[in-house]
Amino acid sequence: MGQKKTHLYKSHGDHRSAGQTQYEYTHSTACGYVRGSVTNHPARVTCKHCLRKIGKQPNHEHPRTG
Ligand SMILES: [Zn+2]
Repeated sequence: MGQKKTHLYKSHGDHRSAGQTQYEYTHSTACGYVRGSVTNHPARVTCKHCLRKIGKQPNHEHPRTG
């Protein structure tokens, strides 16, 4: 519990004029959430959902066969 993951930062657009906060704007992630730990460096991403978005698979996952 409480394990921090690093997400890939991905802008969902500037919606600050529609109530989006500055924090939400700068902490949007590729997996679609607002998270405290984000990075622009794909090599530092540990969130598997974000990794899937950028076409990388976590090392411990094996591709399905069949
Ligand atoms: Zn993520």
